[in-house]
Amino acid sequence: MTKKPSEPILARVADIPSLDQLLRADVMAPLLLDYGHSQLATQLREHLNHLRQKALNNTLPLESISFERLAHCVGQQLAERDAPVLSTVFNLTGTVLHTNLGRALLAPSALEAMCQVALQPSNLEYNLDTGRRGDRDAAIEALVCELTGAEAATVVNNNAAAVLLLLNTLALNREVIVSRGELVEIGGSFRIPEIMERAGAHLCEVGTTNRTHLADYQQAIKPQSAMLLKVHCSNYEVVGFVKSVALKSLAELGRQHHLPSCVDLGSGTLIDLTQWGLPREITVQETLAAGADVVTFSGDKLLGGPQAGFLVGRRAFIDQIKRNPLKRALRVDKLTLAALEATLRLYRHPEQLANRLPTLRFLSRSVTELQEQARRLYPKLAQALGGLYVVTAAPMESQIGSGSLPSSLLPSFGFKITSANEAVAGKGLQDLHAWLRQRSRPIIGRLADKSLWLDLRTLERADEAEFLAQFKDAP
Ligand SMILES: *Cc1c(COP(=O)(O)O)cnc(C)c1O
Repeated sequence: MTKKPSEPILARVADIPSLDQLLRADVMAPLLLDYGHSQLATQLREHLNHLRQKALNNTLPLESISFERLAHCVGQQLAERDAPVLSTVFNLTGTVLHTNLGRALLAPSALEAMCQVALQPSNLEYNLDTGRRGDRDAAIEALVCELTGAEAATVVNNNAAAVLLLLNTLALNREVIVSRGELVEIGGSFRIPEIMERAGAHLCEVGTTNRTHLADYQQAIKPQSAMLLKVHCSNYEVVGFVKSVALKSLAELGRQHHLPSCVDLGSGTLIDLTQWGLPREITVQETLAAGADVVTFSGDKLLGGPQAGFLVGRRAFIDQIKRNPLKRALRVDKLTLAALEATLRLYRHPEQLANRLPTLRFLSRSVTELQEQARRLYPKLAQALGGLYVVTAAPMESQIGSGSLPSSLLPSFGFKITSANEAVAGKGLQDLHAWLRQRSRPIIGRLADKSLWLDLRTLERADEAEFLAQFKDAP
């Protein structure tokens, strides 16, 4: 015979304290201080209504209306309501520049620069020599030109805005000649044909999906042509029987016909990545040297800075772009400028870049280092998940992400988690992934091949303890 638990003593509606009583109670003072009268009163009122309903149904235990208990409950509700929606996660997807998870992480010096201009007035648009209005781009223009070899540069909110501004400035109501093999769609519905239309330019497609020749561009040139545009195949690759026109030849053709040749480079790196054993990606300098008149690229992809879009190239075109009223609407704020300047300055010292720029640090981590990290973390992880799951330290492949070098995978290392029970394998892993996404700092992995993969490439050593703490009370 099991003993029946004793029935709790129930509260009646009349037992429930009034809102006024509660607001004056000492136990509520800390909440009043933290959240203010209006928020606290609203939350209390709602909670009391809920309790009254339970009392009417004879399901309200007397202890749940003690002042301490009420303060505790309402305190928790207020804290939950106040938690930021945008919060940090662990990106263990294996995609270093994950657009949905915020792309590049800033270097500490970039963060410091942002804090300074955020908290103090700055010479954002003030020339300290003349005491007059200055140029917002001044902070970064000289630096960008120094690093890329461009004559002039400007910056807007992202690369999509840079392309929009480029087209609207140089090709309004005129034609832009683009290869059919380069009419790309980037995630988040950025499509070259659509952006072109919104920019007020007319698309003139040439060639075919897999093959475009110089003659195709040549034959398309007419009086209403404004620009030859090349778009970097960021997130896809056409393989097999393919032909595209080298920028050098295209730029030469453009010069013959007095048409600017422009390149949307997408990621746009400023350094040769092969020195860190990474795949080759054409640099901004090389693109300009090959004859491009204007190049656009992102600030928060391989460059490793804040979200921004650069336009660099010939002074005459950049000046025209700066004078477009749309530039005012798309301009970056001072926080972005401060972070960009600090990030770009790191490129003056390439030997230290992989230590100082998180994106490059992640991308250049060796498999040996990742293996060691896996060995360090394995015992705790295996113990936490030991019941329902099998954890193995395993090789895997990372990718750069954000449309950079889509076909090149980087050898990596991390954890492969499978279900101990084959029968519920898929569902079990989905449940685990869902559970991991609900932790105080959510862990985002990758589900594939009946396994949950946690790639350690982007897990900082300083974050390891917090990472393991998320597995407390794992199913
Ligand atoms: C990523 C990308 C864009 C969009 O850049 P954002 O900075 O995300 O606005 C445009 N074009 C290409 C080729 C890209 O790779």
